Amino acid sequence: MKLSKFFAPTLREAPKDCILKSHIYLIRGGFIHQIGSGIYNFLPLGKIVLDKISAIIQKEMNKAGSNQVTMGFLTPATLWEKSGRYEQYGELAIFRDRKNAAFVLGPTHEECVTEIAKTYVKSYKQLPFSLYQIHLKFRDEMRPRFGLLRGREFVMKDAYSFHADGECLNNEFNNMKDTYKRIFQNLGLDFRIVDADSGAIGGSGSKEFMVLAECGEDTIVTCTKCDYASNIEAARRQPKTSSVIPPQATSPYHKFETPNVKTIDDLSRFFKVDTHFLIKAVVKKAVFKDREEIAIFFMRGNDKLESTKAFNAVKSLKPDVLELFDAEITFLEKYNLPSGSIGPIHLRSITGSDLIFFDEELRDGEDLICGANEDSFHYVGVNLAEFQDLLYKDLVAVQEGDLCPKCCGVLQYTKGIEVGHIFKLGEKYSVPMEACFLDSHGKSKPFIMGCYGIGVTRLLSAILEQKSDNKGCVWGEVAPFKLDIIISNMKNKEEVQFGEKIYTYFCDLGIEVIIDDRNERFGSKMNDFELIGFQYALIVGKRLNDGIVELIKREGLEKQEIQSSEIIETLSKIL
Ligand code: ATP
Ligand code: MG
Repeated sequence: MKLSKFFAPTLREAPKDCILKSHIYLIRGGFIHQIGSGIYNFLPLGKIVLDKISAIIQKEMNKAGSNQVTMGFLTPATLWEKSGRYEQYGELAIFRDRKNAAFVLGPTHEECVTEIAKTYVKSYKQLPFSLYQIHLKFRDEMRPRFGLLRGREFVMKDAYSFHADGECLNNEFNNMKDTYKRIFQNLGLDFRIVDADSGAIGGSGSKEFMVLAECGEDTIVTCTKCDYASNIEAARRQPKTSSVIPPQATSPYHKFETPNVKTIDDLSRFFKVDTHFLIKAVVKKAVFKDREEIAIFFMRGNDKLESTKAFNAVKSLKPDVLELFDAEITFLEKYNLPSGSIGPIHLRSITGSDLIFFDEELRDGEDLICGANEDSFHYVGVNLAEFQDLLYKDLVAVQEGDLCPKCCGVLQYTKGIEVGHIFKLGEKYSVPMEACFLDSHGKSKPFIMGCYGIGVTRLLSAILEQKSDNKGCVWGEVAPFKLDIIISNMKNKEEVQFGEKIYTYFCDLGIEVIIDDRNERFGSKMNDFELIGFQYALIVGKRLNDGIVELIKREGLEKQEIQSSEIIETLSKIL
């Protein structure tokens, strides 16, 4: 390819709303072009990198025994009604055709693929099998941002496996875990496999693949001693204890006036009690399609509510909840709740709400202090064992310094970008969609399923967040073109002739070479090489007279002088 004919519109500046380096370089390097909120066109360079990433994924998926298909981007709404996700999936984009039939732009394809299995697979003899696709998805994300990291339209590799029993599913889950490891290793990424929340996809167990990067939207909890690693959304810890003895241990249950006490810290100072013995209330507004409800979460005073755990708690009672928001004072007033003095006593009758949850670590807690649901009053000597029908859930965000649930080592945080997620779905879709097979005794049984996703377009950003430097893109294996031959001065016939000779030689061998034959200054050709991130640059410049050319490796920008007579030999070894 000749750069003079190649459509690679590099820019000096990125638009102001680009914050992350991956977003800036993808736009400035002419890889992608934004056409709407969370929607991007892939320009030639972007398309090349996307295809290279896809090829690595495709090769490993085929090796792992999965069959490639392409399912419709448009999926009939009837399928989603059947699985129950038409009402529950918050990011669905729905439209109606001329006959007023409703369709969903596929955000994921469990429904669709289950329909395929239901149509064709009748007997246990046809199991197990796995289908995958590399295809478009659309999710009407609340906050599309950071370029390809969180788009609305994006490319996913999604695979689905079907089994007769759980053991077979476990084998495939491990097979996919190993396959994903190879894919991300082949991409040269530093990643971690972590326990995860199963989110809108559902199912029993899931693992996420996290590319370590400062900008990552996910907080990962890892143990400093063992291999425990979890997304904070699903992280566990050893139950927290307090070495301080509660001074109230002997106080009987009693209401106390607490003037000007508004926060947990105020309360701790007022009673001179460790926050461990205070019950903190966090109030949220649960939003449904047609209404709002109050949801109240109790935990120890030194703990924080984890938002996904809170959402899952509400969802376990009301599956049609869409989102939780912080409750404003006016919202509390509607339920007669005084902010700063909210507690569990008589709360159900005061609010009329059944969305009241207690953190597991408060289970049957004794000698606690809590709000009295009356401005400037608190109760001391509260024993939760005396309450009836409290709903306990794991609600708290594991904090740095907490102890590992596996080995009691100290836990710490890192940031990651989720690039893959594998799920054991079990019967979650096959039961509602009545997708069954006949087992070896002739009995009808629902398929046992697994599903396995990789964010293909998100990977472009993740690679750059981890590898790029302050000059531009570093791609590793998936760089667009292995070699960029830079002719320093297009007016110099020797340089042009030499560059073209090398170019033709490697093109004929089928190696991806591009030649920078534009009438541009040398400096701007170098800038483009660094910004775009071709794997190597061969500089054909003034020193060709002395029989010397220069080879630069983009990763690390190491330079090496090479005799022009030996260049073909040297490059043949490298490329
Ligand atoms: P997230 O927590 O980031 O929203 P998710 O849990 O919704 O991700 P899955 O439903 O598991 O994601 O989808 C599989 C993969 O698709 C994810 O691991 C991620 O890499 C990718 N992905 C999900 N949403 C987006 C998006 N909006 N833009 C780009 N890639 C995405
Ligand atoms: Mg999501």
